[in-house]
Amino acid sequence: MFEFFKKQPLHINIIIGLLLGSVWAYLSIVFGWNDFTTNWIAPFGTIFINLLKLIAVPLVLFSIISGVSHLSDASSLGRMGAKTIGFYLITTVFAVTVGLVVVNVVKPGAFADDNQRIVNRLSYELWVEDTEGVDYVDDQRFLSDPKYADFMTDAMDKYQEDISDAAVAEKVNQANNKEKGGPLDFVVDMVPSNIFVSFNKNLMLQIIVFALFFGISLIAVPKDKVQGVISFVNGANEVFIKMVELVMKAAPFFVFALLSGVLAKMAQTEQELFEIFKSLGVYALVVTFGLAFMVFVIYPLILSSLISKKTELSFVQAYKYFMKGIRPAQLLAFSTSSSAATLPVTMECVHENLGVDEEISSFVLPIGATVNMDGTSLYQAVAVIFLAQFHFIDLAISDQLIIILTATLASIGSAAVPSAGLIMLIVVLQSVNLNPFWIAIIFPIDRILDMCRTVVNVTGDATVSTMVAQTEGKLHYKI
Ligand code: ASP
Repeated sequence: MFEFFKKQPLHINIIIGLLLGSVWAYLSIVFGWNDFTTNWIAPFGTIFINLLKLIAVPLVLFSIISGVSHLSDASSLGRMGAKTIGFYLITTVFAVTVGLVVVNVVKPGAFADDNQRIVNRLSYELWVEDTEGVDYVDDQRFLSDPKYADFMTDAMDKYQEDISDAAVAEKVNQANNKEKGGPLDFVVDMVPSNIFVSFNKNLMLQIIVFALFFGISLIAVPKDKVQGVISFVNGANEVFIKMVELVMKAAPFFVFALLSGVLAKMAQTEQELFEIFKSLGVYALVVTFGLAFMVFVIYPLILSSLISKKTELSFVQAYKYFMKGIRPAQLLAFSTSSSAATLPVTMECVHENLGVDEEISSFVLPIGATVNMDGTSLYQAVAVIFLAQFHFIDLAISDQLIIILTATLASIGSAAVPSAGLIMLIVVLQSVNLNPFWIAIIFPIDRILDMCRTVVNVTGDATVSTMVAQTEGKLHYKI
């Protein structure tokens, strides 16, 4: 058995782990083994995520310092930074727009039963009437229409149910606390006052700022005085890269544990599982379609045209080169639902397989893992419009433009951990006067969509780092 796994490439073994994990989770739900799965299998998934996160922070620190210390001139850093942020913004806005187009064409919210949508609409109007500072988003008024009088009791129950969910109320509070503050707060938050606090709280942007500052100061000091520091940093960097390789050897098993644990938590019985997919199936398909479009069409298209122009490879070969190179990171993003946990592997794939110079990958990817979330922004756009459709609400073009803006900002503000995008969705819903408690509706299916959007987030980072490397002449194709 072990011989069989040894002979396969790692990504095949990870796929086998994923498949076995899904089958196991399904059996757990059907035969009632959920407790066993949660108590005895899922903890290994948690260990896996912990290990990856353990490596991520020091790896980012040492690789950025080491990258900067190899830099010939510090001015290229500013140019690289501007390009990175520019490309990241463009891809994010593009992703939101793809989401908006797909959800407006397919209209997943309109697939629900009309009676249910009327009740939903009435409960929305009750919420608007009750909530200070919130206005109607369209001109319809179901509340004053006698045609809908029969639905009122149900609507009132639904409204009470909506706003009495304590778990969601806590999330809404969290998101609202995040919203307060001045316009420059995000810049202030990027500069650490105590680097150990930043390590402790995993504040990636602060760690990046510190690493850049340290690296730039390092090259400003005469080499003979800091030779020891430089070799220590380079050596430590190598050790952390080795740790990634070692953890990845066990990844197929860990991925099995992670996925079976996560999926088994989704539903207690087969009936429950069926209900979730029945009511949210079309919405889930729309999100997945948009995300797949980014991963299989947009990113490879950008890169294949770039790669095939600069090398002997044909367009199709270049497509395969990119997809194959980034695959381990994609599979890991899917399993962990966390761009931060996947970061060490993304860095390895982009450098080792795609040939991006470490100077670029160590700088562009950690920033990307924190601020560039194309999948999250696409998902947020689809979710908001779906929820509006589900409540018989028509959003005007002006509202959709607000969604492009807030979904872009919200995805930048989302932490690179599971479910962060769902919490920031609250901000997007509020920006267009919709009820933030609606996140409870899509919650049951969120983890699976989180897995998919994290794949897009990571692929987007890899794409942009390859683009930056190409324009900087720092891409060494491995062919
Ligand atoms: N889990 C996502 C990530 O880490 C963020 C989100 O959309 O929830 O990239």
